[in-house]
Amino acid sequence: MQTIHESFIASAEAHPDKALFERPGQPDTTYAGTRDLVWRLSRVLTDIGVRPGDRVAVQADKSAEAICLYLATLQVGGVYLPLNTAYTGAEIDYFLGDASPRLFVCTLPTLAEHKTRETDSLRVESLGADGDGTLMALADAASPLADRVERAMSEPAAILYTSGTTGRSKGAVLTHGNLASNTAALLESWRYTSEDRLIHALPIFHTHGLFVAANMSIVSGATMIWLTKFDPDQIIDLMADATVLMGVPTFYTRLLKSDRLDRDATARMRLFVSGSAPLLAEDHRSFQERTGHAILERYGMTETCMITTNPYDGARKPGAVGMALPGIEIRITDRETGQPLPQGDIGAIEVRGPNVFEGYWQMPEKTASEFRPDRFFITGDLGQIGDDGYLRIVGRDKDLVISGGYNVYPKEIEGLIDDLPGVVESAVIGLPHPDLGEGVTAVVVPQPGAELDEAAVLAGIGDRLARYKQPKRVLFTAELPRNVMGKVQKAELRKTYAGLYN
Ligand code: ATP
Ligand code: MG
Repeated sequence: MQTIHESFIASAEAHPDKALFERPGQPDTTYAGTRDLVWRLSRVLTDIGVRPGDRVAVQADKSAEAICLYLATLQVGGVYLPLNTAYTGAEIDYFLGDASPRLFVCTLPTLAEHKTRETDSLRVESLGADGDGTLMALADAASPLADRVERAMSEPAAILYTSGTTGRSKGAVLTHGNLASNTAALLESWRYTSEDRLIHALPIFHTHGLFVAANMSIVSGATMIWLTKFDPDQIIDLMADATVLMGVPTFYTRLLKSDRLDRDATARMRLFVSGSAPLLAEDHRSFQERTGHAILERYGMTETCMITTNPYDGARKPGAVGMALPGIEIRITDRETGQPLPQGDIGAIEVRGPNVFEGYWQMPEKTASEFRPDRFFITGDLGQIGDDGYLRIVGRDKDLVISGGYNVYPKEIEGLIDDLPGVVESAVIGLPHPDLGEGVTAVVVPQPGAELDEAAVLAGIGDRLARYKQPKRVLFTAELPRNVMGKVQKAELRKTYAGLYN
């Protein structure tokens, strides 16, 4: 197996003149051009004093240059640490304090602010959205450095912070082996090759955009159509000249709102992938009706890269996330005892394989508590493996509602509510309740103009749910709180409605 950087160099040697990045209305960046910039950035990093194992923290707008910086960091043996562009002030302080990087590359407008953080051991440079800024000025003047610092597959390549959906973000330390093995498994599973042309509209500070989309393209020698924002009309135009789209579920919800989405528009495409959050089963069905394409849903997390996927050839089932990728094992266990459960039972999803991270950065206790003695990692998600062998996620362990001593899995109730006429989507949460411990509560987003009230929702689902699962209250809201990855933040909802039953 080769590291991501070794594979990148091999791709650049195989087809130097091919475009790696295509940006509508701008010149392409070829594989050779990318390698040249990676080599010059490697010189800059070395000159700055980035030594093997040193962290390079990057909070930059999405650009091809930021990917070059990632590859250069790998080349010099550093540890790449991308940060969500939404983080500000105190959050950045936390990440820089936590990760103690040697270099922090920030956005152009924040350079003056962050320069004040510079010390003997922390250097601050900027990288602009158009590949401008102080880092690129250094790269322009630098001579290319082709030498690579050899790193073992077991050594860290990146620290990626989790999305912070359930609490404070944790830094997941990922090795060269984690990234390389997962990329290989995905390439095989999705038949991804140098012929592919990927519409890349995801952020690159998250595992989806960086370690799925970008790594797969770089390693296989494919082309990325590189977009800095998600514009449904533009994406539909681009589908005429692309093969694959990787998106979060909200991409598909938004595409479905366009009446231009049809069989003709998607005729050239071979694959639509969804992940990072649950895809609405309804969206899966509508997309297939409108385009003839069954969206391929996969499941993964920052700590493990991708874990399961619906099959490329077999049935891609709405509401299911498929089977473990090659080389990866999953099992369902009792969430309290950790004992493996019979097939079909709902329990904790655990995973073991070359994809699973080393541990949380500087959190040995947290790391220890999330692994079983036999090295299975406890994902924190709950699910069930059906008779068909497909994994279905029923929610996060932290979102499980325990009402009157009974476990209530939100997904089951959400599915029923979402199917009611006039409902866009829903979130079921548990709120402190004087008698029950937690009261099952549904927060529903109605379609504009829909005549929907609490009684109608309760009547609509009542005869299909055991009594203890039925919501005590149904609340309405214009939209659910989501983080930048499109994930519903149930912790926010629990905070908002905390006093409901008091
Ligand atoms: P934090 O760990 O900080 O609370 P997070 O878990 O949202 O945040 P990520 O690592 O970005 O951070 O997300 C991984 C989680 O996303 C998984 O544990 C799972 O809950 C959810 N997820 C990913 N893909 C899917 C999917 N296809 N269906 C349902 N949930 C998914
Ligand atoms: Mg998580």
